[in-house]
Amino acid sequence: MQNEIVLKRIIKKNNTVRYIYVANGEWKEIFKKELSIEYDQNIEIVPDSVLVVPFLCNILPISWIYDATIKVKECDADFFKSIDEFKNGYINMYKRIKFLGKLDSEKLVNNKKNSQKGAITFFSGGVDAFNTLLNHIDEKPSLVTVLGADVELNNEEAWKNILNHIKLVAEEYRLNYNTIKSNFRDFIDYNIINEYISKFTNEDWWHGFQHGIGVISLAAPIAFLEKKNIIYFASTFRYVDKNVTCASHYTIDNYLKFCGVDVIHDGAEFDRQEKVHNIVEFCKKNKKKVHLRVCWKEKNGNNCCQCEKCWRTIFELIAEKANPIDYGFEISKNQLKNSKRVYYEEVPKFRRDNYYKPTQSLMKENISIKDLPKELRWFYKIDIDKLGYHPYYKYYQRIKRKIGRILKGG
Ligand SMILES: [Zn+2]
Repeated sequence: MQNEIVLKRIIKKNNTVRYIYVANGEWKEIFKKELSIEYDQNIEIVPDSVLVVPFLCNILPISWIYDATIKVKECDADFFKSIDEFKNGYINMYKRIKFLGKLDSEKLVNNKKNSQKGAITFFSGGVDAFNTLLNHIDEKPSLVTVLGADVELNNEEAWKNILNHIKLVAEEYRLNYNTIKSNFRDFIDYNIINEYISKFTNEDWWHGFQHGIGVISLAAPIAFLEKKNIIYFASTFRYVDKNVTCASHYTIDNYLKFCGVDVIHDGAEFDRQEKVHNIVEFCKKNKKKVHLRVCWKEKNGNNCCQCEKCWRTIFELIAEKANPIDYGFEISKNQLKNSKRVYYEEVPKFRRDNYYKPTQSLMKENISIKDLPKELRWFYKIDIDKLGYHPYYKYYQRIKRKIGRILKGG
């Protein structure tokens, strides 16, 4: 049987929307359960033609690679028109994959209104998100944070901390904020899709295909309710980065449109060090402190100061002559000592070249080695090209740990 999904019903009750669908054909084993999204406001007046957008954005890319037909009763006209445009981004990114499939909508609805004004920005609290927020702070964008994307739905402790963080930022800059919870990562079976696409690409589904439009579209009902006309989504990669495979990309996000809203993939003119520079400059100029939240290792939502992402950001801040403590990195003496181990054990080659190398040379321009705590001076001195990557270091560390265990009698 031909692969297809029929969206039977959209159930909206108070803050929650649920999508009742039937999948047929060989691909149906991918769909584990119904998709649901919970907002922090009542969404019952949002028309189905808008509510269908997040459903479609999380299923369309699957339908393309499985050559499936999606059938819905109605769809927003702007969105429907934009599909071929953002699909092109995927087509150009993954040359070995055929993007087929079809969307049948019985009715197209125009939801655009002349009164739409103002911006929404997705906000996770990291370097990319803060760079976008601070660069557009004069527009007073509403913040939107999603639970179920980078933080798992059942991780209540992390969510509490993230919520506190977003509240503080919203208060500080007098912004509105919205939160969205969704099982959009759980309703499909990644094992099956990842296995299927592994013939064509090394990417996994979430990173390579879903997390751009899949996340952004969750905000469509909010944009509709609050009559906004712009959504910012912070970039990770730059325009000049070649051969990038990533679902969140300027060739995709910028072409997504729905109910009179333009999506802007923001900040791709800056590399990460430049974004840190923008943030530090903003803080200096406006006498503000920014608590960055970059770490995904620490389950409680703080920065652990012992992972690669934390240390990369700490070095970037130091290179900008900033004090990491002012930006949410409370580094202990022990963690300082561990920085070298983290570098040698966790930094892959492309990050060494793309991130650490420019950071080190900026650091050398901006500060002298004596400005650094003793435990960090190794980073100033190493020749990143020659000594920065040390395959033997890992081996040496493993042996050292083993001897340690033997000595402890473990
Ligand atoms: Zn960390």
